[in-house]
Amino acid sequence: MANNHEKRLKEQRKRERENQKQKRRQRQMIVISTIIVVVLIAGIVAIVLQNINKNKTAEPSPNAGKQTQTKAAINYNGQPMMGQADAPVRIAEFGDYKCIYCKKFEETIVPKLKKDFIDTGKAKFYFINDTIFGENSQLAANAAEAVFHQDPKGFWAFHQKLYKSQGPEDKNWVTKELLLKIAKETVPSIDMNKLRNDINNMSYQDDIVKDYSMAQNIGVKGTPALYINGKQVDPFNYQEIKEAIKEAANE
Ligand code: CA
Repeated sequence: MANNHEKRLKEQRKRERENQKQKRRQRQMIVISTIIVVVLIAGIVAIVLQNINKNKTAEPSPNAGKQTQTKAAINYNGQPMMGQADAPVRIAEFGDYKCIYCKKFEETIVPKLKKDFIDTGKAKFYFINDTIFGENSQLAANAAEAVFHQDPKGFWAFHQKLYKSQGPEDKNWVTKELLLKIAKETVPSIDMNKLRNDINNMSYQDDIVKDYSMAQNIGVKGTPALYINGKQVDPFNYQEIKEAIKEAANE
């Protein structure tokens, strides 16, 4: 009996030891599983964060875009130019005589450009028609081109006065009479009969269409659009314009 009892006790202890072993194993498994889950979660979080960062850098910041921006292929030939022919930097404005912001650009930014860069021989300024307001804009642009072909230097006085005479964008304020009157007042050398014929015949319509196509080809989205040696800048940010001119001068 005693032997039997001892045997049962031994077996009992053996079972208890095995139970404890199993419990330890279970605890170890729980710890290992927890570690695996934590590592997996950390891995997933790391991947998600990496992707968020990737997306952030994939979206170019405005400044980064400008640094890698390709230069617009602008054809300056036959465009009105203000300044010295040997000035190293080319400033080009795409504008429309009916565009109110072009008038604002003409009256607020151009005088600064003239004083700081054009009169000092550092840059030359081109005006290119981008007739986004249709036929009435084309009439104005045709007259301007006609004046330019008669008197390339006198053109700028006509150009300024035409902006000064600007009416509302949604009204057809450009008339042949107004164009002739402005030309007579601003360009003493003008041959009025020739100008009248050129306006009546829209003689420079091909140039207007070419200018418009060029603006489309280089991706002009609105007027005024401003380029410094082919690099687009904000036409109303004079600090940015100045820096772009400085940069272009060192090219
Ligand atoms: Ca032109």
